[in-house]
Amino acid sequence: MKSYHMTADEFRRHGHELVDWIADYRSRIEDLPVLSQSKPGELRAALPEHAPDKGEPFDDILADIDRLIIPGITHWQSPNFFAYFPSNSSEPAILGELLSAGLGVQGMIWATSPACTELETHVLDWLVDMLGLPDFFKSSGTGGGVIQDTASSSALCALLAARERASKLETNRVGIQGTMVAYTSSQAHSSIEKAVKIAGIGAENLRLIDVDEAFAMQPEALARQIAADRDQGLTPFFVCATVGTTSSNAMDPLPAIGRICGKEDLWLHVDAAMSGTAALSPEYRFIHDGVEHADSYCFNPHKWMFTTFDCDCFYVKSRKDLIDTLSILPEYLRNEATESGAVIDYRDWHIPLGRRFRALKLWFVIRHYGIEGLRHHVSQHIELARQFASWVEADERFELAAPAPLNLVCFRHLGGDAVNEALMNRLNESGKLYLTHTKLDGRLALRMAIGQSMTEERHVRKAWERIQDSAESLN
Ligand code: PLP
Repeated sequence: MKSYHMTADEFRRHGHELVDWIADYRSRIEDLPVLSQSKPGELRAALPEHAPDKGEPFDDILADIDRLIIPGITHWQSPNFFAYFPSNSSEPAILGELLSAGLGVQGMIWATSPACTELETHVLDWLVDMLGLPDFFKSSGTGGGVIQDTASSSALCALLAARERASKLETNRVGIQGTMVAYTSSQAHSSIEKAVKIAGIGAENLRLIDVDEAFAMQPEALARQIAADRDQGLTPFFVCATVGTTSSNAMDPLPAIGRICGKEDLWLHVDAAMSGTAALSPEYRFIHDGVEHADSYCFNPHKWMFTTFDCDCFYVKSRKDLIDTLSILPEYLRNEATESGAVIDYRDWHIPLGRRFRALKLWFVIRHYGIEGLRHHVSQHIELARQFASWVEADERFELAAPAPLNLVCFRHLGGDAVNEALMNRLNESGKLYLTHTKLDGRLALRMAIGQSMTEERHVRKAWERIQDSAESLN
């Protein structure tokens, strides 16, 4: 029978070539310009207008990676990448992704690959202990964890479950839609507003609570706003607190916010997308003080825990609340294991039905590094950030723009916004490093996020020298 498939031998050969290519890429990555210099439309102009009628040799496809794709890559895995928040990766995670693709499993329900579900449950239970999270987030308690694609999806699921729970508490269920109010700080990630819009709560029903001088939510302002909304006949139902805001890594005070949520019977979601990883080290576990008040929590191993994008770990205190919100059982998915109630069907824990075997890469990462290895690298990043912050403080042309509790340093040149913007553009255009900016108190600040897997002291030191030299040449 005629076949167009790649043979096993061809796959073996090309697979080895591709793994070699990735290993070489990772060895030479620090010499590549970090920020892609590609112009809009450049890649598309170099691609054929139509798809090929006849299959092409795989060697030609591999050759096009260097020729076509690499120029359009911003090298997130470069040790000189200090922009946004990291999205780091590692060899074991890459191999876990490869195995997941090789198995090609679609793990929507337990029966469609029991290992896909059970490994995920088990590894997420491990992480509860590894991060010092409350036991109720474990599958042996009332709750449990699930891997989502992103923190944005976790926020949406948390919001939907919160809405479902709140509407059940009300006698007049239909009547409260449109009067429900959600709360987060003015510094929260935009994904919270997006979730509020998608869920139909309406952006006008999201209250952005004021922050203090460290850019953390003010609990008194939260309490006041809730009271004012209740006075208006509205129904407060959801609060999102952030452990490590995107802009400046501010830590919302969970104990005080949690007490308010408890008193007011509001769902508390804790978004620790990047910073949650720091809690691997007992020294930084203080960031989770008060998390025992949370109804849900998420962090992204795909940001700082060496696990290739995408991998967000989402925990709920009551899995019943989540499943009641998201479960619909059509006839064609009925099966004995599900009916028995003895298994988890993760399709009921997130928006999509289908799901990849993401737990493999997480399992590979945790087993390869061990808790000790993960702690070592994360603590090293924080130490490097402290060094960087001390250099900023020692240079009279610069100042810190916010406290730097972990691995993000926000700083600025005292010359004003235009100088900082010129400085950033010059550095990024050089291709030698990549950093991004934010606005704090209405003034531009540069963000130095240190969390790439291969970043060492020499990279941070060199980056600071380059920042100083560029500042000098701007004068
Ligand atoms: N929450 C915080 C605090 C973030 O910093 C980010 C992204 O940087 C997100 C949520 C959104 O992350 P994701 O891309 O996983 O949706």
